[in-house]
Amino acid sequence: MCGIVGAVAKGNIVPTLLEGLRRLEYRGYDSAGIALNNGALHRLRTTGRVAELSKLADDQKFSGEAGIAHTRWATHGAPSERNAHPHISGEVAVVHNGIIENHEALRQRLQNEGFTFTSDTDTEVIAHLITINLKETPDLFEAVCRSVAELQGAYAIAVMEEARPERIVVCRNGAPLLLGLGEYGTYAASDASALLQVTRRMVYLEEGDVAEIHRDGYRIVNCLPGGVAREVARTVQESELTNEAVEMGPYAHFMQKEIFEQPGVVANTLEMVLNAHSISPRLFGNEAENIFKDTRSILILACGTSYHAGLVARYWLETVTGLPCNVEIASEYRYRNPAIAPHTLVVGISQSGETADTLAALSYAKSLGHRHSLGICNVAESALVRQTDLRFLTRAGPEIGVASTKAFTTQLAALMLLTMTLAKLNGRSSDKSEREMITAMRHLPVALQHALQVEPQVKAWAERFSEKKHALFLGRGMHYPIALEGALKLKEISYIHAEAYAAGELKHGPLALVDKDMPVVAIAPNDALLEKLKSNLQEVRARGGELYVFADADSRIQESEGVHVIRLAEHAGLLSPILHTIPLQLLAYHVALQKGTDVDKPRNLAKSVTVE
Ligand code: GLU
Repeated sequence: MCGIVGAVAKGNIVPTLLEGLRRLEYRGYDSAGIALNNGALHRLRTTGRVAELSKLADDQKFSGEAGIAHTRWATHGAPSERNAHPHISGEVAVVHNGIIENHEALRQRLQNEGFTFTSDTDTEVIAHLITINLKETPDLFEAVCRSVAELQGAYAIAVMEEARPERIVVCRNGAPLLLGLGEYGTYAASDASALLQVTRRMVYLEEGDVAEIHRDGYRIVNCLPGGVAREVARTVQESELTNEAVEMGPYAHFMQKEIFEQPGVVANTLEMVLNAHSISPRLFGNEAENIFKDTRSILILACGTSYHAGLVARYWLETVTGLPCNVEIASEYRYRNPAIAPHTLVVGISQSGETADTLAALSYAKSLGHRHSLGICNVAESALVRQTDLRFLTRAGPEIGVASTKAFTTQLAALMLLTMTLAKLNGRSSDKSEREMITAMRHLPVALQHALQVEPQVKAWAERFSEKKHALFLGRGMHYPIALEGALKLKEISYIHAEAYAAGELKHGPLALVDKDMPVVAIAPNDALLEKLKSNLQEVRARGGELYVFADADSRIQESEGVHVIRLAEHAGLLSPILHTIPLQLLAYHVALQKGTDVDKPRNLAKSVTVE
């Protein structure tokens, strides 16, 4: 789930590996390690930051032309030095992202065969398996192929063998991995950003690919379980990522940068529409028109923040298109027996396009007989994009902060485009309503800029939140998912326990929690539900609860004792949830700053959740 970097090159590769790990730090990790192969394996590991690993490497004058490095996000075994990667068995060193599900059975077997384990990880079984297979075949590539055939789960690995320092073998199966082709060597990494310092020429591996890299080249064999191993050619792609996109610039945190990038990236995501007078289904792919015309219902599968985007979209889709829409948490859907509605468009949403549960839920939906799928994703080369019939790429640029911000608002922009496209093809929108929505979308970047201007007021509120242990978020209608997202942001980065409720649910339970120590954040746009919401807020006030209300300029709601109000612009209609997201992101950010937490790398969390 975290980071892999490998290199075989002319000259010392240690700075490349460490810089690669530094660029992957944003994904969240708890320990780091590096191994070099100079004809003998040398390893360094630490539970500290990558900077500490770099210091250790400096102190020990670590240098070599082939090596693998890793940041670990522990799934099996505590975050400790002995569990940090690389893991070594005999002459073999391995780094691994993901989970080996059958590790217990393998560990038992390997122990019976005399192997001693030095860690509690699932990873170590891979190293020992390769050692066994190397006794049967002298070829590391073949030994890796035989070993991975025994593994169940999702993983990306990189392997070195002491006797053959000129090469590294890597494999992708359910977790991202790519090769980088540089001037002085060949590289491998779990994320392109780790390699931009040495090359932009990338080869994205596909599921089941095993590759061998050496200084002047590489070869790839696809060994999908049950399939016939065959050498494959994968296209070399020029990465469009810029170095600036993965640098912080003048900001204090990536999250702050990403919050403030939203007007620009939402504009980029909508660009094709903003310059047109009408919306074309081709935005979603060449087949989209036929598939959308055949669509009778929609099923959205996603996790975390992307799931919240799906919940907003349900309001839009059902209101505007009249098509029934179901939104499911991917990790739940994949393990239940859902009833199948024919002619359903299955929509998977994932920032990275590598979210294991979302990918598995989509495959499961397909196996149940759903014929058409659409991926909404921020990464062009991801598994989600390859797996779906139709796709829409949000243009948020790399999102480095673990807590998602700009990915969410660009997903919402994409989902609004989907709503309008389906409405048009189903005869549910007129030319006039289409033009009006395009005009509203044109205004959206400016409206987002305006929403960001409430930052000083939000900052003042944040000071009062930092002492609190709990917070309640309330919203109604299409702003209820925004309340869910606001609560998620606050808990993710400030560690304050936050819960969101549909405001009408308050008296069915959560009202019991309300007292003067429980701040209640309410999203109060000037929509048809405002009067109902005001009654809910009265219920809070009557119990001594302190209210923090994000209203529209035209919401009829007044400041009074215990009722604090920050106003955005006038009500933005269907686009309002996108705007109301901004102050909630700012609130979470400033509360976290007050509390001094690690905003970009919150404890226990990781970016792009490629494990189940
Ligand atoms: N499951 C492995 C471990 O716990 C790898 C975790 C990762 O992806 O970083 O060590």
